[in-house]
Amino acid sequence: MAKKVLIIGAGGVSQVATLKCAMLPEVFGEITLASRTESKCKAIAARANRPIKTAQVDADDARQVAELIRAEKPDLVMNIALPYQDLPIMDACLETGVDYLDTANYEPRETAKFEYSWQWAYRERFAAKGICALLGSGFDPGATNVFTAWMAKHLFDEIETIDIVDVNGGNHGKAFATNFNPEINIREVSAKCRHWEGLYGKDGKFVETDPMSMHKSFECPDGVGTYEIYRMYHEEMESLVQNFPTIRRAQFWMSFSPSYLNHLQVLKDVGMTRIDPIVYNGVEIVPLQFLKAVLPEPSTLGSTTKGKTCIGVIAEGTKDGKRKRAYVYQVCDHEESFREVGSQAISYTTGVPAMIGAKMVLEGKWRKPGVWNMENFDPDPFMDDLNKYGLPWKVQDPTEY
Ligand code: NDP
Repeated sequence: MAKKVLIIGAGGVSQVATLKCAMLPEVFGEITLASRTESKCKAIAARANRPIKTAQVDADDARQVAELIRAEKPDLVMNIALPYQDLPIMDACLETGVDYLDTANYEPRETAKFEYSWQWAYRERFAAKGICALLGSGFDPGATNVFTAWMAKHLFDEIETIDIVDVNGGNHGKAFATNFNPEINIREVSAKCRHWEGLYGKDGKFVETDPMSMHKSFECPDGVGTYEIYRMYHEEMESLVQNFPTIRRAQFWMSFSPSYLNHLQVLKDVGMTRIDPIVYNGVEIVPLQFLKAVLPEPSTLGSTTKGKTCIGVIAEGTKDGKRKRAYVYQVCDHEESFREVGSQAISYTTGVPAMIGAKMVLEGKWRKPGVWNMENFDPDPFMDDLNKYGLPWKVQDPTEY
């Protein structure tokens, strides 16, 4: 039976998730889209193939979110606002007894930390209330967690190493722009790099290195091209090394163009990426938030972006006593994404898994009380839906070596 969702946030990712949910009325019977700026919700609703209700909410305030939940009575709240709103929205879900989903882990505004501890601390309370929270239902985190779980289920007895590789071979034609929320993106890429090293899970540890200090060339499959990829920290490694304790090395790599890195370095050198407040003309401002205000909104980049993304997981380990290596990846075309939902591929590759994660919870395939990461559930129905709803994936499973 069709269910009701409340989607919070009306940016680039939300546009895709909302329009994709609207295309599946048999699952998402009713949709309410709420955000800080209601006009942005209305603009998204106007593109949908059926009526979508809109509302205004400040999701930093759990009481406002709870009031909205009581008024709308959704079966699931999809948090597609910013990581800062994760905890207030989870609090509101707890208060009202409604399931929760997001696409990025909680971050306090004053420190860019990227860890699940704050949200995992809700496990007992969600379980006691009988409600489910699905964390990180985007592409990375999200599909990459599911790719790893799928390989663990079907291709390996033990996975020993994972390399998550996120290549954006797209070009938006601007000198400098980020392809998702600039504030969150720059916090992420300027953070210290951490990767997992160790023997068998809990004996391992995250090793810290300077941002962007390790890089290499990577040839994407299917003619996407060869790109320079940089090792950095990414949140899905934290849950993956816990849920697959045989992993003894986990690394995350992302491609950046020389122009992006040069601009970022200059912005950093002049202090524009600082996240601590400064006083300007008697007003407190955060330099990075000011920078976000002058950069292009990622949701406006769709019409000019050309090229493809290629995001996947390379795993090494053993099967039937022999060593092997496999790669599961997905290639997404910026222009095709724009044609379908008016957004570039970064928003598309995040918004589609958000819709599919919500579908998994609403259909009961991935619903159990507690707080969960994507790899805690059976990967198969999610992988099937990626193929059905716009993100077909491929596997390279070469013979043992
Ligand atoms: P945008 O900045 O485009 O959109 C964020 C939206 O949230 C805006 O509509 C904004 O409102 C709204 N918002 C912000 N603060 C509040 C608040 N206090 N109350 C209500 N609404 C609020 O971001 P993106 O769409 O690029 O990213 C959305 C999320 O997806 C982020 O958490 C990001 O980290 C995550 N993400 C995850 C990825 C993955 O693969 N897992 C990849 C890319 C992004 P307003 O318009 O008024 O500013």
